[in-house]
Amino acid sequence: MSKASPPPPQHKRLRRQRSEQGRAEARFAGIAVSAGVAIGPVFRASEPTPQIIRHRIAAADCAAEGARFDAAVAQSRNQLTKLRKRLSVLPEESQAELSPLIEAYIRMLGSTRMMRGVRQRIEERLVSAERAVVDESEAIAGAIMAQAEPGMPAEDRASLMRRAEEVREIGRRLVRNLTRAPFRSFAGLPEGAILVSESLRPSDAALLDPARLAGVATEEGGAEGHTSVMLRALGVPAVLGAPGIAHAISRGDLAVVDGSAGTIVVNPTSETLAAARRAVTAYARERQRFGKLRRLPAETFDGETVELQANLELPLELPLVAQSGALGIGLLRTEFLFMNRETVPDEDTQTETYRSIIEAMGGDLVAIRVLDWGGEKDIEALSTAGIVPEVADPNPALGLRGIRLLLRHHELLETQFAAILRAAHAGPVRVMLPMVTAVGEVRAAREIYERVGRRLRRRGERIPEKLPPLGIMIETPGAALSADALALEADFFAIGTNDLTAYTLAVDRGETEVADLYDPLHPAVLRLVQFATEAALRMRMPVSVCGEMAANPRLTPLLLGLGLRSFSMTASAVPRVKQAVRSVAIDDCARFARHIMDQSDPEKIQELVANFSHGAAHA
Ligand code: PEP
Ligand code: MG
Repeated sequence: MSKASPPPPQHKRLRRQRSEQGRAEARFAGIAVSAGVAIGPVFRASEPTPQIIRHRIAAADCAAEGARFDAAVAQSRNQLTKLRKRLSVLPEESQAELSPLIEAYIRMLGSTRMMRGVRQRIEERLVSAERAVVDESEAIAGAIMAQAEPGMPAEDRASLMRRAEEVREIGRRLVRNLTRAPFRSFAGLPEGAILVSESLRPSDAALLDPARLAGVATEEGGAEGHTSVMLRALGVPAVLGAPGIAHAISRGDLAVVDGSAGTIVVNPTSETLAAARRAVTAYARERQRFGKLRRLPAETFDGETVELQANLELPLELPLVAQSGALGIGLLRTEFLFMNRETVPDEDTQTETYRSIIEAMGGDLVAIRVLDWGGEKDIEALSTAGIVPEVADPNPALGLRGIRLLLRHHELLETQFAAILRAAHAGPVRVMLPMVTAVGEVRAAREIYERVGRRLRRRGERIPEKLPPLGIMIETPGAALSADALALEADFFAIGTNDLTAYTLAVDRGETEVADLYDPLHPAVLRLVQFATEAALRMRMPVSVCGEMAANPRLTPLLLGLGLRSFSMTASAVPRVKQAVRSVAIDDCARFARHIMDQSDPEKIQELVANFSHGAAHA
């Protein structure tokens, strides 16, 4: 469940007792990102062996290749140093287990035979950096294993195997950072398992099958990163940012993931297990109760109609959208179309996908957002196609993200506009631009939009007589503060509170270290939401909220009080937000919002929001 402000992770194991198999129970705490309780065997998702696309290089490219390798070493060292720092919150016994391993990895990235060997291979054999890393790490691991002699004591042999595996592991990390293109396969994931890994990228999450997977636990990740958004959308209980978890599990361990409390228990005792089973049943009952709200109107206590729509990240969520009672899709994130593939999807492929989603919505509106590449939404097909650089931008959230990239490479935007327009006869559609900061971007995009429309008509394609509305996401402070000017250019606003919060408070959405600073109820964020909403309402222009704030029923009275009447959210949140809508009166909400907007202390705002239901609701 989305939270107004995720609690700071309580990084500690709480106690040690024995499970039924005699293993010690261990508790880990992280960030609660997707509600529900899951019980199942752990499955450690190891890093995939990335595909190496380039093998040979020209002699003239040696220096550049060396620089790529240096960048990957620096990035790997950074990741491991961060991990080492976060281990300090674990109890001493866990630190004693994990620290030497991380230290060994960091040491290997220094001035070692392996690093020298890779550089030498690049220069002398003219191979790509990733090829050199794979070959060198295999050569070193092979040399280590060659020291194994017949009759050697088992523990000495095991120690050699461990060292060889450490070399391979550092090689995999380097290659992953070099290629940034690991297609993970979860084919081996046993049914009902809990996936445990160091990190999970949004494109990995897109490959998960929620029907087979019980839960997810990772060491990295923030509350509102795209991975969290995906896991919530899939309805998979998940805890991210739990230090030590991936390194502490063994094959055959059982785990309980509580995605509401943000805890993971490995090898639960019989009491813990019994409590977890009760929680699973209670959660299922709650969902059943919410299911009954599906056919009731989203109408406040005093009769004001509110539009509740679903956000869609993957087509496989469509049945969940239908069950949720959402009336339409308020945000179709199209990134999934570009993920886990090597080429950019062509116009026909995209048209078919949009058409099938629009048809599935049976006449309800679908707001399609054009590609929002950048930030943590790293999409390999674009680097393979040479559209974005292979080496990560040092500050991707502030780089060539969203509409900026699409205007720079407008063939991408043209293809996507054309596909949406061709699919638009299947049902009502809106088109949305991501990461807008300036009016010029909207004008430029509209020019392309209209040009594509004319071109399709000349081609004899069947497209709507009047082009569907072209609106924008308000998800940067720049856009929120220019809302009056943008309202003259855009046909509608969709307020994306996830990025708006991140950019306003300078907090990376996917970063564990600052997850406790991510606060959509910060007065600065609320003022921007209010400013943009009022600009739209003055122009009588549709305005909605499609960030995770819309999914939190505690925030519904505040958002209604600010004048908002349209919300789009992860499908599973629709019933509880509907319940919140049905239990309040608009006058109370407006009074409440005025009171909130007079506050300057984020903690006071949290407290008022938490207590609203006691004072003003009619439920
Ligand atoms: C947002 O930023 O609030 C939003 C809805 O877009 P995304 O989460 O896809 O960045
Ligand atoms: Mg966004």
